[in-house]
Amino acid sequence: MTTTSTPPRKRLFIRTWGCQMNVYDSARMADVLAPIGYAPAETPDGADMVILNTCHIREKATEKLFSELGRLREAKALKRAAGGEMVLAVAGCVAQAEGKEITARAPWVDIVLGPQTYHKLPEMVARASRAAGAVIECEFPAEDKFDHLPDAAAPQGVTAFLTVQEGCDKFCSFCVVPYTRGAEFSRPAAGVLAEARRLVASGAREVSLLGQNVNAYHGEGPDGRSWGLGRLLRALAEIPGLLRLRYTTSHPRDVDDDLVAAHRDLPQLMPFLHLPVQSGSDRVLAAMNRGHTAADFLRVVDRLREARPDLAFSSDFIAGHPGETAAEFEQTMALVRRVGFAQAYSFKYSSRPGTPAAGAPHQVPEAEKDARLQALQALLRDQQDAFNRSRVGMTFPVLFTGPGRHAGQVAGRTPWLQPLHLTGPLSLVGREAPVTVLAALPNSLSGLLAAGSGAHNVQPAEEPAPA
Ligand code: SAM
Ligand code: SF4
Repeated sequence: MTTTSTPPRKRLFIRTWGCQMNVYDSARMADVLAPIGYAPAETPDGADMVILNTCHIREKATEKLFSELGRLREAKALKRAAGGEMVLAVAGCVAQAEGKEITARAPWVDIVLGPQTYHKLPEMVARASRAAGAVIECEFPAEDKFDHLPDAAAPQGVTAFLTVQEGCDKFCSFCVVPYTRGAEFSRPAAGVLAEARRLVASGAREVSLLGQNVNAYHGEGPDGRSWGLGRLLRALAEIPGLLRLRYTTSHPRDVDDDLVAAHRDLPQLMPFLHLPVQSGSDRVLAAMNRGHTAADFLRVVDRLREARPDLAFSSDFIAGHPGETAAEFEQTMALVRRVGFAQAYSFKYSSRPGTPAAGAPHQVPEAEKDARLQALQALLRDQQDAFNRSRVGMTFPVLFTGPGRHAGQVAGRTPWLQPLHLTGPLSLVGREAPVTVLAALPNSLSGLLAAGSGAHNVQPAEEPAPA
């Protein structure tokens, strides 16, 4: 008699820092390792492989990595004492920037790989098990990594990410991305459309297109022509079952007429746009090498609002770029007041070695940067609260994504990316249904299914927040 047995699954833990592109890359790393037997694990304890997917955008990234590696050294020794092996890999932008430095300081690391080489992970794992030293792959290979990813991917759920563009040629004074992610590259549209269809087939209803400069997208279309982001969005909007489209992160310089028209024409394109401006001062914007003025940014905002009047904006801001005066910072505050943001990310300028701003004269003192950031964040928080409160009493479609935090609750997203929850059946997950907003809580909204939505017996999830 013969018996068959499946090989034991190996446990893979991935820790992700940074942006949504890193979240997407981590999921792709799990996909390429699945065929060689790795299944996701919730903790690094006892894992057969641990990947740290790093972010280099602000300082302390390298120190955070090495303290994590110190802890993992012990976990690796415990695993070996129990008769097993833990493969330890460092991926992402710190890996790209530091390369061999990582294994020089932490020789217990087995693999160091940059963001352009993760499709080679199975081969690297095999090499690491044979090699005496670490395997380091931090090239920017000419081959397209997207062509080497498996078609089968773990389902991402109701909302999914899809990388369409990578890298950046803009070289803002403060930013490491052009050095860690390399030159701008757009995936051909056919591959993007095929991946979107697969995501929808596995349950995705909302797809967010990702890229460091997503609206610089210029991929080859199936017609052999170069497609911009607007054209790509129109093609994606034709996929049956794909209810919602978003894209991030875009640059004000690359908002062209076709993209504005896509916001006017495509109901699937959600009325919420993350459009980083960084500063409201023309002198600072020039020093940042942003290639646009404050007035250019405001014109883009106005054109988009004209095309889609319910469009709400989010942005990124840097307080205390080298040379920024108090008066120039006030111009940022004025721009924020003029636009009125629904949400925003704001950072203290953080010096990144190798970037032009790092060596610039007139670095702003830390205490001054802190004070400016606090003032900016207070204003942005007020605007976010006001925006959330402005939704109370409105009825609009919510896409339900999963169970809420409390029993009997179901959670979803508004068109403006606000989390919303209500008491209702889990059968709503994966569906869009009209909801009337009852209350704006500090970080989410609560609501009630609107009449005619097919559900019944629903209650507000929580007491409305005090006014
Ligand atoms: N490509 C996008 C753009 O052009 O705005 C943003 C990419 S970057 C990953 C995300 C944000 O991090 C930036 O918009 C910027 O506000 C912030 N950032 C980047 N480098 C920074 C630095 N050295 N100090 C503080 N914030 C920084
Ligand atoms: Fe960095 Fe500027 Fe490129 Fe954005 S556009 S990734 S901030 S260099």
